[in-house]
Amino acid sequence: MGFYGHMTRRLLAVLLLLAALTAACGALTGTPPDRARPGDAESRSAPCEGTGDDFPGDVVLARCLTEWFWSRQFQASGGTYRPITRFVAYQGGDGPACGGRPAVPENAFYCPYGHFVAYDVAWLKALYDEMGDGAVYVVIPHELGHAVQAQLVDDFRFNIERELQADCYAGAALGGLIRVGVLGTEQGDEEELLANLQAAGDPTDIWLSPDAHGTPRQRQQFFARGYNDGVDAC
Ligand SMILES: [Zn+2]
Repeated sequence: MGFYGHMTRRLLAVLLLLAALTAACGALTGTPPDRARPGDAESRSAPCEGTGDDFPGDVVLARCLTEWFWSRQFQASGGTYRPITRFVAYQGGDGPACGGRPAVPENAFYCPYGHFVAYDVAWLKALYDEMGDGAVYVVIPHELGHAVQAQLVDDFRFNIERELQADCYAGAALGGLIRVGVLGTEQGDEEELLANLQAAGDPTDIWLSPDAHGTPRQRQQFFARGYNDGVDAC
């Protein structure tokens, strides 16, 4: 369920370089409106407080906006979205266990036992510093995508299918938030999002692995699909 599976830091650095070269392969199409950032005068009716101007602000905002998106989405189809019960920031090895399994350092995950999301705060902050705020707006919506799956049909043959759908849901949430104008994009945001997915891809295409998250290209494609075409395309 974790975002980066078992990727090591070194591999991440290598893939970052790759990202710069091939970020175009899952191109986001369409032109998201160039709206104000939340908190600006234009978006006073934004559903979430905060401006997302720094790391803690972006983390809170990414969670709040994504859950707001899914509440509306469920409502539109006659359902009720069940918000996560906890949003846990942990340090390295002191994360909350999930179903008896200890939390892994340098990861973020959704836990179906207790319906919560947890993230290694130093790890996420490092990604944020390294890759920009897009890191937060990929990782958090991806994990909340698993929280959504848990409330819908969560019956996948392979784990990779679950992971790629969570990427698609993350893209759908971000695209939806941008389209309704509660989340603005800045120059370079889309490249940042794609670079994050690029970096997050599994190094190989091991479909049977329980940790498989998809290759960088697959992750970009599924994220872009949701971003461009919405939830139904996931
Ligand atoms: Zn996942």
